[in-house]
Amino acid sequence: MPKTVIICGNLFDGVSDASLGPMEVLVEDGTITEVSGSVGRPGDAKVLDLSDRTVSPGFIDTHVHLCVDGLNLARQTLQCSPVKALAGLHYAQQYMRFGFTTLRDMGALDPEWPTLNLRDAIDHGLARGPRLIVAAHMISATAGHGDMQGMFPCRCHMGLSRVADSPAKIRELVRMEHAFGGDWIKTLNTGGYMSAGDDPARVTWFEDEMLALGETSQQLGLPLAVHTGAAEGCKQALRAGARSLEHCYLIDDEGIAMAEKADAFLVPTMQMTREDKALLLAGKLPQHAVWKFRRDVAAIEDAQRRMARSNAKIAYGTDCGMFPFSDGILEFQAMTAAGLSPARALKAGTAVAAELLQRDDIGMLAPGKLADIVAMPGDPFEDIAVTAKVDFVMKGGQVYRHGSFDLLQ
Ligand SMILES: [Zn+2]
Repeated sequence: MPKTVIICGNLFDGVSDASLGPMEVLVEDGTITEVSGSVGRPGDAKVLDLSDRTVSPGFIDTHVHLCVDGLNLARQTLQCSPVKALAGLHYAQQYMRFGFTTLRDMGALDPEWPTLNLRDAIDHGLARGPRLIVAAHMISATAGHGDMQGMFPCRCHMGLSRVADSPAKIRELVRMEHAFGGDWIKTLNTGGYMSAGDDPARVTWFEDEMLALGETSQQLGLPLAVHTGAAEGCKQALRAGARSLEHCYLIDDEGIAMAEKADAFLVPTMQMTREDKALLLAGKLPQHAVWKFRRDVAAIEDAQRRMARSNAKIAYGTDCGMFPFSDGILEFQAMTAAGLSPARALKAGTAVAAELLQRDDIGMLAPGKLADIVAMPGDPFEDIAVTAKVDFVMKGGQVYRHGSFDLLQ
């Protein structure tokens, strides 16, 4: 049984409100078995000296799209599923270098199941990468945010979208996601910004449709994530039993209170708003997004500040894929800029994200947890920006990156 002792200059355990100072972590066979001031030196143990680093649980991004190339969607519609899966592997590895050891993928635009194939390839050791938890597709109403047919009319026969307009068809689509091995159900009950022809301020599912989707997910034991913008959309998603609300662009105080009461999670994707704002100012936002994003941007930022002031559970999610994975690590900084404390932002990307994913084996540095461990110079409680300087990455006890050693290059 391989053993590793990690000497930590400073330690954040995923749940505490402050860093815990110098500590040591003992890893045996991929699992953490002891965290204390001194774990001893078992004879056969390898010692990793991170005494000049802050050590943290591996980061968890609960909203990515490994197989969606948001900035080149038109080109990507012409790519076959294996090409998307291979590109997704590249992005997953690139992102893991920043410290992300677990990702929840929120849906591909593809008739096949590339993100599930990618998840399984990594789980089976055929490819190196972060552990993936997957909603395979985005179930959408016709003309909803997940419907690509109108955006690329001549390619509407390609089955890029999962669309339905009746409770019966919705149930079938949910069951198909389950049949092929999806971990989560993802739907969209309002429009979005980067799609043509829909509006984030409008709800796209009727109540019976959304409820049919929620009930079917629940019956199958699959948690539900809902892309939602309008204040009413947030409430509808909660009525249907959503475990996480994605984006919550225009959530109001009543919706935030409902989420708190339901013990649901908010995934506010704040860095994406900063990315879209930069594109708007540079005149590079796609034309179909300009009118709605310009109309809403101040309200989105206000909603983010109100979420930060609430007691709702906020989890780290970015929507990377819609913008470059190299910027996903900046969500920590976006969260604190919106008013979250560094402690709450760090927990959002570790223990709270793990709770959202119903994974009690990750997101924490404690005995019994998987050894998903990252390290960075400096103290993120003092300067949240050091989260962008991770240079040590371990997943399940295996080192993927450490100084010049880099399995992910
Ligand atoms: Zn998304």
